[in-house]
Amino acid sequence: MFTRRPTRQISVGDERVGIVRIGGGVPDRAGNPTTAAPVSVQTMTAGYTHDVEKCIAEIHKLAAAGADIVRVAVPEKKDTDALREILPAVKVPIVADVHFHFQRALEAVDAGVHKIRLNPGNISDRKQVIDVIQACKARNLPIRVGVNEGSIIERKDKQKRQKELGAVFSEHKHGYLLAIMIAKLEEYLDIFYEQDFYDISISAKSMDAALVIDAYSEISKRFDHPLHLGVTHAGPKETGCIRSIAALSGLLTRGIGDTIRISYANDPIYEVEDGLELLWSLSLRERKGVDLIACPTCGRIQVDLFTLVQDVRKQLAAQVTVPMKVAVMGCIVNGPGEAEGADVAVFAGDRRGIIYVQGEKVANVPEPEILERLLAECLAFQGRVLRGEAKLGEKKVDIVPPDPIGELGSGWEKIAREKLSTHSAGSGPRVTPPTQVTFGQT
Ligand code: SF4
Repeated sequence: MFTRRPTRQISVGDERVGIVRIGGGVPDRAGNPTTAAPVSVQTMTAGYTHDVEKCIAEIHKLAAAGADIVRVAVPEKKDTDALREILPAVKVPIVADVHFHFQRALEAVDAGVHKIRLNPGNISDRKQVIDVIQACKARNLPIRVGVNEGSIIERKDKQKRQKELGAVFSEHKHGYLLAIMIAKLEEYLDIFYEQDFYDISISAKSMDAALVIDAYSEISKRFDHPLHLGVTHAGPKETGCIRSIAALSGLLTRGIGDTIRISYANDPIYEVEDGLELLWSLSLRERKGVDLIACPTCGRIQVDLFTLVQDVRKQLAAQVTVPMKVAVMGCIVNGPGEAEGADVAVFAGDRRGIIYVQGEKVANVPEPEILERLLAECLAFQGRVLRGEAKLGEKKVDIVPPDPIGELGSGWEKIAREKLSTHSAGSGPRVTPPTQVTFGQT
């Protein structure tokens, strides 16, 4: 769908945990062609790495949620020591996030970590950087060079760089920051190139979505290393989601970005879930599990759809693994069109729901039974797909809106006359029971 920007390719992992490739399209150093790997999803543990049992449990949880790569912080030696117990116990590539102490990078490499992340803003001593490069080179490990707005802004060369390069980016809102980020990257990567080291990915994060877009756009023109996208310190999930998706989708739809991390001040499981959903939504990864469509509800609603949708989402996430499309629609008026392409759909009416499986009506049940019956139909359909008896997306839900005096019993007059009480958060719309139903009007 989107033409990916060609990059060098790096590999993270080993035979035991699996190898995740990042980027591709530029021939490797032996001249062999590479193709762009699917955009991967990364996250970072929130707990202490030295708390071995908890760290392992958190990594398992994040990997089970779909994280391709998990990063852990190693601020102290007890954290890199812990890697020796953690690494053999997990089944996903692990990145050691190193700040300030280059020794932590060397210790992490010794422990068998799969990738190192260095920040030019706080590990800049040339000799130390070379030591880390050589250690990684000896083990064929890639390094992410991650410049962060927050960690470079106070560098002593800020004024000089601003003067020298700020004009280059004068058209940008944050021209001087962009100039410093690019300049720092160029200086830093020169050390790597001098060591004949090219297994590099780059990140240039900021909490400002516009700066993130500008920074990665400029970096993508200057370097052919794969790019790790992210908005740093994006905030709580509720707003961080918008901030992250605004920046990342703006880049991904232009083919920029080879691996992503969405970061929230929340359980990192949400970072994985939302990162995957972003890639699925952009068709950059093949969806796993249910693609749930639901209407936003309107004045036609006659069931508690908000609760139903949340219940369906939770239940299907736990039980369905095939990428079936499921639609939960509030009414039959616009529902069929909005649910086009759904494998399983429910259209609600007057406290009832009609359930369709690939265009075939299979049930008409009262509201309290909708959830159970819908789940049963989804699981039965999944079974047929897995046995090769049905094919996903084979038939679209194609329903002619019923006669107003139809089996849902809603009737156009009722829709026009019924007064819905106010919505209350968490419980969905409350529907006033009808006192009189007369059909036949529109
Ligand atoms: S499906 Fe029906 S209830 Fe839902 S938003 Fe559309 S018209 Fe309104």
